[in-house]
Amino acid sequence: MSEKLIFELGKSGRKGVSIPEDELKELKVEEILDKRLLREEDPSLPEVSEIEVIRHYTRLSQLNFCVDTHFYPLGSCTMKYNPRIAEKLASLKGFSTLHPYEPEELVQGALKIMFELGKFLCEIGGFDAITLQPSAGAHGELTGLLLIRAYHEHKGKKRTKVIIPDSAHGTNPASCTLAGYRAVEIKSGKDGCIDIDRLRGELDEETAAVMITNPNTLGLFEEKIAEIAELTHSVGALLYGDGANLNALMGISRPGDMGFDVLHFNLHKTFAAPHGGGGPGSGPVAVKKELEPFLPVPVIVERDGKYHLDYDRPLSIGKVKTFYGNFSVMIKAYIYIRMMGAEGLKRVSENAVLSARYVINKLKEVYDLPYDKPPMHEGVLSGKKFKEYGVKTLDIAKRLLDYGFHPPTIYFPLIVEEAIMIEPTETETKETLDAFIEAMLKIAKEAKENPQLLKEAPHTTPVRRLDEVKAAKEPILRWKKDKGES
Ligand SMILES: *Cc1c(COP(=O)(O)O)cnc(C)c1O
Repeated sequence: MSEKLIFELGKSGRKGVSIPEDELKELKVEEILDKRLLREEDPSLPEVSEIEVIRHYTRLSQLNFCVDTHFYPLGSCTMKYNPRIAEKLASLKGFSTLHPYEPEELVQGALKIMFELGKFLCEIGGFDAITLQPSAGAHGELTGLLLIRAYHEHKGKKRTKVIIPDSAHGTNPASCTLAGYRAVEIKSGKDGCIDIDRLRGELDEETAAVMITNPNTLGLFEEKIAEIAELTHSVGALLYGDGANLNALMGISRPGDMGFDVLHFNLHKTFAAPHGGGGPGSGPVAVKKELEPFLPVPVIVERDGKYHLDYDRPLSIGKVKTFYGNFSVMIKAYIYIRMMGAEGLKRVSENAVLSARYVINKLKEVYDLPYDKPPMHEGVLSGKKFKEYGVKTLDIAKRLLDYGFHPPTIYFPLIVEEAIMIEPTETETKETLDAFIEAMLKIAKEAKENPQLLKEAPHTTPVRRLDEVKAAKEPILRWKKDKGES
């Protein structure tokens, strides 16, 4: 299974292309270019045949786990199937060759897609206005918090802090800090949800916002959300919604109706655009009426049957992204929504919840379920009971690779010891879910009977356990032929 570097393949003098003879006069490069511009040694380029190139890159493309090849139950990430039709339509020439400076009247179709996508998202979330500019969820958080800051400053009071539960995604406190706020963490209650008394204790006139994910990162629905919203608003603070878990709610309940003032969407999670490997993503931010004047420019508006980029917004926080955001991701989300329709989106969420409940229910006897309530679209188990055999959650995750599954999210949320966070999504068949459950049960048995097998896993992948920190901190990006290093 090991794949050499392309530099290590081939033979000196071997070529992948043959260029036809021409009748042009042959020139020596030394005669045309200044000596200073010439390299002293030949570049060490690979010398390979066409089929060597094809096989090399085809094999490389198959070394990783991906949604197209493997079940990928990465909690909090909604790794659902990405419909090919969306990919195909987004790459139509009319879209892919657009220039962002083309005049409005020549790009009415593109503006219409953005305008309508915004309308759909407002309808799904229960909001009044939206920006599509942010590049991802975390960027949406920052944008949303800047809107909140602009809102408070406009009212003449700056406010200094944002309250966040300890189960929050790490981007939440980071975004608060970036937006100039102090992130104040509150401990979750025994039930894994917001502790109302602790929240009440922290809420004051300095509170700019309360930042919540619903369902939360344990996959639990915050049942007291209406009371939380009322408390938050009673001190003049706003309620920020981290919409990463919207796959549990579509067509069933709307964050805007629960009392959220701002919500970011992750189009690359809920709305089936591909993600991972660094993007591109898209994190639109929807708001209630009071926050609309502060939205980034330009806002796409409809006037006299035409679409316009509206820059005339004196209270706007400005731009958060060059041009208008990641347009290709918007097209894919737009197509997905149009394809599913209102009824389809509701079924997406119902099936996402059903799949998660099925998997968690089958596994909770063998793996602990620390917050033992039926989860929404994802659930968080704990591998802590296997510690007595010297097996950690990391070992369980690595062993899953041998069984052909991408591991779930592990060690998040932080409030669950040895967390295993499973999000199966609605696009998987029952057979796949059953196979995953079977593998998880087998691994639990192995943990007791042969812990070494887990500790040395994975056994079947091209590379085994990597020093992930070293790989990130000291990457070797250059191959030196003479030293034979790679
Ligand atoms: C994914 C996620 C984010 C961040 O979104 P990105 O698009 O990855 O920037 C924030 N909060 C939660 C709960 C998430 O799952």
